[in-house]
Order: sequence, then structure tokens, then C-alpha cells
Amino acid sequence: MVAEILCVGTELLLGQVLNTDAQFLSRQLSEMGIELYRIETVGDNPGRVRQSVRAALERCDLLITTGGLGPTEDDLTKEMVAEELGLEMEEDAASMARLNEMYAAWGRKMPENNVKQAWFPRGAHILKNARGTAPGCAVEVDGKIVIVLPGPPYELTHMFTEEAVPYLRNKLGYKIESRFIRTIEIGESDLEMQLRDMIDRQTNVTIATYCSLGEAQVRLTVKCPMGDDPAKYLDPVEAEIRERLGKYIYAIGETDMPHVVVGLLKRAGRSVALAESCTGGKIADWLVDVPGVSEVLVEGHVTYSNISKERTLGVRHDTLEKYTAVSEQVAREMAEGLHELSGADYCLSVTGIAGPGGGTPETPVGLVYIGLKTPRGTQVEKFNFTGDRYRVRSLAALRALNMLRKALTDIDEVTISD
Ligand code: ATP
Ligand code: MG
Repeated sequence: MVAEILCVGTELLLGQVLNTDAQFLSRQLSEMGIELYRIETVGDNPGRVRQSVRAALERCDLLITTGGLGPTEDDLTKEMVAEELGLEMEEDAASMARLNEMYAAWGRKMPENNVKQAWFPRGAHILKNARGTAPGCAVEVDGKIVIVLPGPPYELTHMFTEEAVPYLRNKLGYKIESRFIRTIEIGESDLEMQLRDMIDRQTNVTIATYCSLGEAQVRLTVKCPMGDDPAKYLDPVEAEIRERLGKYIYAIGETDMPHVVVGLLKRAGRSVALAESCTGGKIADWLVDVPGVSEVLVEGHVTYSNISKERTLGVRHDTLEKYTAVSEQVAREMAEGLHELSGADYCLSVTGIAGPGGGTPETPVGLVYIGLKTPRGTQVEKFNFTGDRYRVRSLAALRALNMLRKALTDIDEVTISD
């Protein structure tokens, strides 16, 4: 099945809104094994929307539109799709009843122009909107499918996964399942080299590599008959990849480093505290995004200035003078002082130069020391990150959590001294 996406919205063309709907949908389609050939963005102009719908339907089997489902004059995507497919618009009684109920619950009279949100091309399959007033729809004519979705991402993502995916699965007649293998400390090109022969001889299970900030991922995708168990195909491929990349793999599935670390801390019944300089609370923020972190996170300090490192963590004045704030010694004293202060089992400290200014030949931008005090001792690792301030800070936060993860899983034990 070949697909195209048509995003409708003048705000997208003016650069006022980032087209995250397109990114979300492309990823979802690729996970479902549907080939996406083109993404187009067009303004809220009836003629141009219609023209784009027509051209797309000449090329693809599945067209997904986003935006223009609202009650206002310029919301006209559904109407243009109906015109192009030669379908009359008709009211859907269930959608109208739901709109009435929603307005009744809010104690408001439904504005006249909202009525059109309950009108759809004849024969359309309605896609319910649990997060807004405008339902979407799927229309099939002569083997071509058009799926019409609302613009707001909060509504679109939910409607797509809950309503459109089951509809599409049914049409596809086969099952597609993807599994993500998450790695760290290996670059995307090295990763690909290690898997080259597997990628070259891939058959039913396809293997693709991706990289995001500081991480690389392998995606396995299988297409199998409806009644079949996808794990039967994915498991052996995952096992082979584990054999080759074992030490780089930190998780399988839809998760991330903060979730993995919090999970490990909970399982071990251990606590963590943070002393952040250049990451400025980023690690704390990431951890606090994980529900239930209160069981394991004791506290986090942003000890940005030298004086704060001394006062809060008890870093010695002499050490700061002699080695400077960005040094192995200071990272060590930060972690150890934090332990005194918090009593947490694992104490992470980060000190570095995030840039763009402030670098010297001895302490260049991107130089970061990460300290970790564990019940067995203190370790400090030195990193030289490249990139802008955001990247250096994010990589530092990620690698700090990775150090903690390794300490909790006992992989690749680094030299520990007291
Ligand atoms: P509404 O009922 O809110 O009018 P709608 O389905 O008519 O919804 P639009 O009017 O096209 O959708 O867009 C509403 C808002 O949704 C936009 O102002 C924008 O903030 C967001 N939005 C629209 N399209 C996209 C997109 N492709 N990616 C991200 N956000 C989008
Ligand atoms: Mg609108």
C-alpha cells in the first residue's frame, strides 16, 4: 500500500507551527509497513486543497489529510475530499448526538457552524474524537482510501492510534509489528557495520538503524498473517543482534534512558541524588518525567557556581583553585559531598563546559566530568562532547544516567577507587 500525507494549514506554510503531525504519521506508517511516497503541505485554500487531493489520489492508494476539520469557514478539508470523490455530504446522527451531548455537558448552546463537524462524505467510516469536538473519517472509493484527521496533535495522535490504525489493519489483512533495540556508546555507522550482513540478507524481518541524540536504535519490523505471532519472527533476529551488540544494548521497546534507570533503581531498592553544574537540572527534569520516581529520587541540586559547590557539597576551596571547577577532582568531591548531604545510595555529579564561550585549551568546550558515588566507591569519567550548548548538556545528562545504569547492572565495571 502506497501512501501520501497532505497537511492543510496556512499556519504551517507561514512557519508559525511545526508540522509534527507529518512526523508522527510518517513514523506510524513506516511501523505499519505502509510505504510513504510524499508529504505535502497546502494552505487553507479550497481550490488548492482540492487540487492536491486530486493529484495525490492519482498516485497513491492511501491519502491521509491533517487539519481543517474545525467549525470555521476556512476548515474545509472534508468538503474538498467529498467533492473530489464525487460524494454528497450527509449528517451522521451519532456524531451529531455526541456534539449535542458535549455542549449540553458544558452548559452551552452549540454554535450554528459546529453542526458541520457532524457532516461527512456519504458512506464514510467515522473516526471518533475522544479529545475534541471534530470527528475524523475514512472514505473508500474504487480501492482508494482517504483518511481525514484533525490538525491539533493532541487530537490527531490519539485518533490515529485508537481509530485509524484498527481500520487500516483490517484493510491491510496482515499484521505488522515493530520492535526497537536501543543502544548507547556506539555510533550509527558502527552499528550498521556490525549488522551489515544481516541487513543485506533481511527477508521477512526488516532491519533499519536510526540515531537520535546520543543513541542509536535498531528497528525490527515483521509483516505476518493476521493469526500469526510476530514474536516468532522477531525473537530469533533480536537474539542474533544481542549476540553481536550485547554490551551496547540498554533497552528493548518503547522506553528511554530515564525510564530504564528509574526501573533499575526501583528493582534494586536503591536511591539516587544529583549534583548538576553544566546540565543545570536536566537530569532531575528527565527523572521527574518518570511516574513513581519519588520512590528513588532523594534530591537534586544545581550547584552552578564555585561557591555553591563549596557551600552545598563541601567541595574544598583548594581543590577548586588548584584543578578548576571542570576537573576530575571536583567531580569526585561533588559526588562524595552529595553523599554526605543526601545519604543517597547513588550520587551523580556533573561538571563541564557547555559553551559556546568559556573554553580554554586545557578545558575546551564540551569537556565534561561525570562522577558517581556508589556503595562500592567513587568513579569519575571524562567526556569530550562536540556540538552546541544544548547538545553538550543533553549528552552529558544522557551519559550520566548511562553511568548510573551500568553501575546498577554491573556491566563494564570501570576502575573504582576510594
Ligand atoms: P480546530 O477544530 O482546532 O480548528 P482543525 O482540525 O480545523 O482543528 P486546524 O485548524 O488546521 O485543525 O489546526 C488547528 C491547530 O492545530 C493549528 O493552529 C496548529 O496549532 C495545530 N496543527 C494543525 N496542523 C498541524 C500539524 N500538521 N502539525 C502540528 N500542529 C498542527
Ligand atoms: Mg481549524
